[in-house]
Amino acid sequence: MIKFTEHELKIVKKLEVLKDEAGSHSPSIITFRQKMPEVAIKVDACFLSNPYATDLFLEYFEAEVLNGAKIRDLLESYPSQNAVIAEILADFLHIDASHIFIGNGAIEIIQAVVHNFTEKKIMINIPTFSSYYEYVKEGVEVVFNELLREEDYGLDVDRYISKVREQQPDTIVLINPNNPNGAYTRIKDVQRILEELHFVKNIIVDESFIHFAYETENYQLVSLSHLVDKYPNLIVIKSMSKDFGIAGVRAGYGIMNASYVQKLLNNGYLWNSNGFAEYFFRLYTREDFAVRYDKVRIKYILETLDFIQELKQLPGINVYPSMANFVLIELQEGIRSTDFVAKLLIGYGIYVRTCDDKIGLKGQYIRLASRSRMENDYIIQSIKACIEMNLVLEGVNETAG
Ligand SMILES: *Cc1c(COP(=O)(O)O)cnc(C)c1O
Repeated sequence: MIKFTEHELKIVKKLEVLKDEAGSHSPSIITFRQKMPEVAIKVDACFLSNPYATDLFLEYFEAEVLNGAKIRDLLESYPSQNAVIAEILADFLHIDASHIFIGNGAIEIIQAVVHNFTEKKIMINIPTFSSYYEYVKEGVEVVFNELLREEDYGLDVDRYISKVREQQPDTIVLINPNNPNGAYTRIKDVQRILEELHFVKNIIVDESFIHFAYETENYQLVSLSHLVDKYPNLIVIKSMSKDFGIAGVRAGYGIMNASYVQKLLNNGYLWNSNGFAEYFFRLYTREDFAVRYDKVRIKYILETLDFIQELKQLPGINVYPSMANFVLIELQEGIRSTDFVAKLLIGYGIYVRTCDDKIGLKGQYIRLASRSRMENDYIIQSIKACIEMNLVLEGVNETAG
């Protein structure tokens, strides 16, 4: 049991209300600061972004937009149309522009695809990113494929394929690496899924965390997006929010068969981007940026590996394997996740996510993002102190009782 003072308990109650109001996502830092001025957040380990990528973007943005006084253009003019931004990406991604759909964040693409192309039944691995089942139309059946704790919440490909054969959904969703646990399915296994499940109308592969994954010693980027030509049922969804650290810009893209892109564009989405997102997309495809981005990507991967290694040494918590920039942690010793999260926040100014609302997780879980090295060190020290305090209290209780 984690103990709170009267004053802390009041804050804990307010926190619970704030989380309830935010539904299945966490309240944004801006909302948080506004509603809870009494809590000073020092480290945001809830939002899953690469801070070095944000630094890099800012460096370009300041030099080319702010100091170059182009900010007025960005505000005053319309951004390019969806299909025009798609063309900017096409060369860089080596994919024909007709396959690319630009979204106001990946969330808009999830909504568009699931609304328009899922007819009857969708199969989703759990635990998962909630939008995939929350955005289905009325009347669409949702089937969950439960990832197992005994298997570290990883995907068993054989069982997955048989379950899809048996259930016959028209849409399946694979988030790779998965959110909230970071489990990774190797590209050759995903390709086997694509081969064997050619009869499924839509196979959504969400690669929002793919820039943190690797299969080679030099951390080379992996992705399936070039396979849309080969598999017409493949839909790759990519958020730029996490691995490029720009959630506020709202930029994402989907790669899918050209008729789907056409159908979506015929129904709207003409200017769903904005000037900042267009600036980002143009930057993303530039050689000078790409070279520098890859450096901060790898730097962050290496630091995250160290962070996870150190977390694994801590007593009282179980850290699940992850190929993303965050880890799912199961709390032991009877620690409640909401208490743990509140203590980290109130006592140490560290904002992390409880996973109480995640279906498919049984037990007390939190999800913790990797930040800069300095912040990660502080997170480790604070978690250690929290657990030790709990163990001391447990010890006292045991002797007393
Ligand atoms: C965060 C997230 C998204 C949405 O990202 P935005 O581009 O910010 O809308 C989509 N899929 C997964 C798996 C995510 O974690």
